[in-house]
Amino acid sequence: MMEDKSGVFHVMEENQVDVQITQAKAQPQQADNHRPNWSNGQCVVAMPSCSMLNPSFDLSLCRAKLENDGFQIPAGDMEAPLKTALDVPSVRRYLVFNSALFHFILAPMLYVVLWCAVFSTLHLYITVSDYWVLCLSVSLVSIFLTTAIIFILHYSNKEINMNIDIRLIQVNERLVKHKLLVAVADWVQSCTGNMQLYFVFWDISRCLSALTETLEERSFVENDTQIKLKRKMSHLVLVTEDAAVDSEVEGSDVDSSEQRPLLRHADTGRRTSSSRHEGAKVTTNYNLIPDVALPAQAKAYQLLMTYSAAYVRLLVSERLSGPSHYQLQPRRNHCSTGHLCLCQYIKNKILR
Ligand SMILES: [Zn+2]
Repeated sequence: MMEDKSGVFHVMEENQVDVQITQAKAQPQQADNHRPNWSNGQCVVAMPSCSMLNPSFDLSLCRAKLENDGFQIPAGDMEAPLKTALDVPSVRRYLVFNSALFHFILAPMLYVVLWCAVFSTLHLYITVSDYWVLCLSVSLVSIFLTTAIIFILHYSNKEINMNIDIRLIQVNERLVKHKLLVAVADWVQSCTGNMQLYFVFWDISRCLSALTETLEERSFVENDTQIKLKRKMSHLVLVTEDAAVDSEVEGSDVDSSEQRPLLRHADTGRRTSSSRHEGAKVTTNYNLIPDVALPAQAKAYQLLMTYSAAYVRLLVSERLSGPSHYQLQPRRNHCSTGHLCLCQYIKNKILR
């Protein structure tokens, strides 16, 4: 991705992506002599949230730990975009109410509420001589309903999360240059919540070439692929808040241009400009479906970035599910810690 003067990201042309990857390959060898040999999927830093009721992460400590492991990341590539993505009151509220611990507490409460509701409803309409029959049937109905609701919540946790994973795309676009991907994952362990910010090592080059190859192979069924992408990704929308003046200028070429804006990033320059137009903020929605006119490599890069945070979250919480035939092809798996790598996850999830 490239940023122009107005702070809008464009998907790079094929040769530019090549240049970027070559540079990314060359950088670590000269810069980090003491960086151990990391392999894809290895967790570099896991930072627990400071509190369960007000989830936030100590980003300066993260940075110090990453530096200690040989990852020199400028603040503009890590702290600033992470703060923009996660340090918002509505996002924090979402993290609390969508956390595994909250679901864990919710289950017994839901059971009791359902039991009372079903019991009082049935008691009104049915006159039963044996109370234990009524209680037993009410308990069975409540158990069934509670299990169904918890199952739906658990299943939705496996899907891409609009409020967190999508917000982290912009952070991962920057961190992938340093061979890192970030995600927020949480689960319940010993009756306590375990919400953490995960930094996972990921060299995207092999996944990028494999996914590009797949997209090129499918180029003769271009329409079919595009329909699949539209069907699976139509709900993925990146919502950004921008100053009104900027959006008016950009609005003219949004639909016509081949280089459709993908993502925006609130860097220092942009924040200055938006503070000048305080109160005149405009919410803009960006569709994340790759443009049909883009070259295969740019499409692959966009798909990898879109699903990066969702994939890392599932990888670290060991909830990746996939067909067994991928397990039989370890050569194609670019991840050392999971049975599916990022490109296989996308092929399995979107292109199948
Ligand atoms: Zn891969």
